[in-house]
Amino acid sequence: MGQEGCIFCRIVGGAIPSERVYEDDFVIGIRDISPQAPTHILILPKIHIASLSELDDPALAGQLLLAAKAIALQEGLGARGYRVATNTGEWGGQSVFHLHLHVLGGRQLKGLG
Ligand code: 5GP
Ligand code: ZN
Repeated sequence: MGQEGCIFCRIVGGAIPSERVYEDDFVIGIRDISPQAPTHILILPKIHIASLSELDDPALAGQLLLAAKAIALQEGLGARGYRVATNTGEWGGQSVFHLHLHVLGGRQLKGLG
């Protein structure tokens, strides 16, 4: 299932293993393989969407954002705070072209660079 050759479609389908911390009907949450903070989770839609620029379903947009909040609270980040980000396109620093939100927390985060 999913887009051929897309690493995150293969993670959604289970062909590539991941540490799954969250799942609902629309999205999954996995630990980033190269964490940039003590907590670093990626939230992926189950369907292939290349980036935020290709996202046009407002319900799915809401599901992604609310999953980010739910995972942040589940990971114990609610009190101190956390960051939700999505890198979009080449200049946005996107390296995997299957839409995902980053949830980062567990340390003081500095400005966006
Ligand atoms: P981007 O640079 O596109 O915003 O973020 C891609 C993220 O995916 C990076 O933080 C990278 O560490 C993570 N990543 C890449 N390949 C894998 C993988 O196979 N498994 C997991 N769990 N994370 C991955
Ligand atoms: Zn994909």
